[in-house]
Amino acid sequence: MNQISTPLPISSHAPSSTHAMKPHGHGVGITETRARAGALLEQGAAFVQLEASAVQAAENESPIGDERRPMLREEHVDVVVIGAGQNGLSVGYHLARKGMKFVVLEARQRVGDIWRSRWDSLRLFTPARFDGLIGMPFPAARYSFPAKDDMADYLEAYARKFSLPVRTGVKVDEVTRSGDRYIVTSGQTRYVANHVVAAASSYQKPKIPDFAASLDPSIRQFHSGAYKNPSQLNAGSALLVGASNSGAEIAMDLARTHQVWLAGRHPGNIPVAYNGYFAMRLVLPIVFRIVFHRLLTVDTPMGRKVKPGQLAHGLPLIRVKPSDLDAAGVRRVSRVTGVSDGKPMLDDGQVLDVSNVIWCIGFRAGLDWIKLPVFDETGRVKQYRGIVEDEPGLYVCGLHFQHSTSSTMIHGAARDAGYVADKIGERMRASAR
Ligand SMILES: Cc1cc2nc3c(=O)[nH]c(=O)nc-3n(C[C@H](O)[C@H](O)[C@H](O)COP(=O)(O)OP(=O)(O)OC[C@H]3O[C@@H](n4cnc5c(N)ncnc54)[C@H](O)[C@@H]3O)c2cc1C
Repeated sequence: MNQISTPLPISSHAPSSTHAMKPHGHGVGITETRARAGALLEQGAAFVQLEASAVQAAENESPIGDERRPMLREEHVDVVVIGAGQNGLSVGYHLARKGMKFVVLEARQRVGDIWRSRWDSLRLFTPARFDGLIGMPFPAARYSFPAKDDMADYLEAYARKFSLPVRTGVKVDEVTRSGDRYIVTSGQTRYVANHVVAAASSYQKPKIPDFAASLDPSIRQFHSGAYKNPSQLNAGSALLVGASNSGAEIAMDLARTHQVWLAGRHPGNIPVAYNGYFAMRLVLPIVFRIVFHRLLTVDTPMGRKVKPGQLAHGLPLIRVKPSDLDAAGVRRVSRVTGVSDGKPMLDDGQVLDVSNVIWCIGFRAGLDWIKLPVFDETGRVKQYRGIVEDEPGLYVCGLHFQHSTSSTMIHGAARDAGYVADKIGERMRASAR
């Protein structure tokens, strides 16, 4: 084992008695947690799965007052990595090679579950040659597009291959500081570490506008994070709000069964046939490895220029073309700005009479469990290449444009994770001197 584990009696070390009396992790009772999980059903698979694991954990615990009540445990490690997605695992790979003592904490029950939770027909938009993490190529033909469950299984196999110390079903409730150490709390366990890497990406909390609550209840609405397949929708037409990659891909999936409206600004697209011989061997490598990885970074004038646009509107369409949408009968309209008489209203005043609305306007990073003053006025972590300003020892990985456009892509994980791991190594060596 890499870690020193010290069980402590709960009474003397609980962060607060209220917290200690409540079930695992979330500080709410089972009934309340179930109610919250129900209410959040429409808001995204990410939430639903985290809540479900909380219910499961709560059910597994001893009842309050039972003498088998859980003990507060404290573990000391060099580094805690939070999140076992492509970024957390890549950081883990580099830390393991440096011989560091670390754990990777993952809220979900299995590595890769975030991919398993995505919609049924989803295939990666990056061919397999760009879907491998450092040290292990993706096990598929180089120019094929893996299904989302293949990606999930690949991540699981990756963690296994490098014996990464991943603990699943461990949701971090908060990260705080005590002197020069960080305290990472998950339910009844506190991890004390010199370094913490929040590798929970930019895709944790679904964005839904406040005016969504005014839509008529007969309209079925949910976030793209909760979309699985067309059978979830009411019969009739569907409005997809947000015309970036998720919106466009879901539009193509739904167009077979529903009349689809796609609302929002066109984010641009790769201007060649996506899976042709020429595109696969020449255009995609240039776009992904040169433009997205080397040219558009925070260290180049061009990168700094496009960064605000990409943060606001996402990537250009990678696989779907406007002509594909037209051919599938998808009707494109301007932005949705409000609700009129319970129906969605566009910025030109047009009101759409639809039976379904899917919010495809992206996610928030959802790093609010970092209880430290690291966020700017827009709620983004103040960081350069993952090194958090004014919090020595705290790092992030996988944020939108953390360093480059490729920072939220699979092929970009190795470089960003390697940089963070190198900085941890340097800091550790400096403090040992
Ligand atoms: C629909 C969709 C399709 C995509 N397709 C592609 C593609 O084809 N190619 C490509 O290169 N990129 C793609 N991306 C972008 C990106 O590669 C993925 O979003 C990827 O999952 C991000 O990896 P990550 O490691 O940064 O974060 P995640 O995969 O989100 O992993 C973060 C992990 O942290 C865990 N976590 C979160 N909060 C906590 C907590 N408090 N405590 C403990 N654990 C926590 C989560 O459960 C999760 O497992 C896609 C994104 C989406 C949304």
